Amino acid sequence: MVNDVLQAGLRSEVVEVDFKAKLEKHLSKNEEICENCGGLGMKVDNNVFGIKGYKHSKGITFPFNNQSLSFCPSCYNGIRKRCEHCNKLIAKSWTVCNCETTRKQKADKEELEAKKRWNKIPKISLENALANYGMLYVEDFDEYVASNAFEDWVEYQRDEDEFFDPKDLRIYITRCESIYLSAADIIENASEDLHEDAEVSNEATEQLQNFLDQWCKENSSETQTYYADESTGVIYSD
Ligand SMILES: [Zn+2]
Ligand SMILES: [Zn+2]
Repeated sequence: MVNDVLQAGLRSEVVEVDFKAKLEKHLSKNEEICENCGGLGMKVDNNVFGIKGYKHSKGITFPFNNQSLSFCPSCYNGIRKRCEHCNKLIAKSWTVCNCETTRKQKADKEELEAKKRWNKIPKISLENALANYGMLYVEDFDEYVASNAFEDWVEYQRDEDEFFDPKDLRIYITRCESIYLSAADIIENASEDLHEDAEVSNEATEQLQNFLDQWCKENSSETQTYYADESTGVIYSD
């Protein structure tokens, strides 16, 4: 290695890091000092490089190195968290553990919150919902179901699962949006690179808007997009 360094026209120097410090850490119950870095939060990092035209004796592409310090890949600030359920260390990029117990706990909490939300909102009858909304959103299945096919959908689920009970479902109304084009925005975009005082009259803008509205109306069916409206629930009844 030394040979290669010299042959590449480089010189090798060693920097001694003489660094003494006491780091104070305030840890919570499930936190501990990182084993990888000993709590420093940093580690020696390799910054390898090669030299164009220089062929290393063992064919290594980036044989040279300017080592420095960088953040420890295992922890933040020298601290690791241990999962209270599986007792394993939690990976650096995760805020909570990915084990089954933790996942189940999270799912249970979300379910409880969803139930609470559901209990609070006003509700309309299924009949009313089917008559007034093109689609309904079934939260339990994360599925949008067309109102005119809703009964078929329920039948299908009944066939699939003998325990399926539509009365347990959290069903929401939806709102529908379709394509909209703003004449003012289009004119503003188109005028961006024109001279400073370039202007289109209000009347002409309105004319264009009327045309766009008509065009959007004619093309609405292909662009209709439904969003779950979780402000109103639907009570299932046979
Ligand atoms: Zn560390
Ligand atoms: Zn865990």
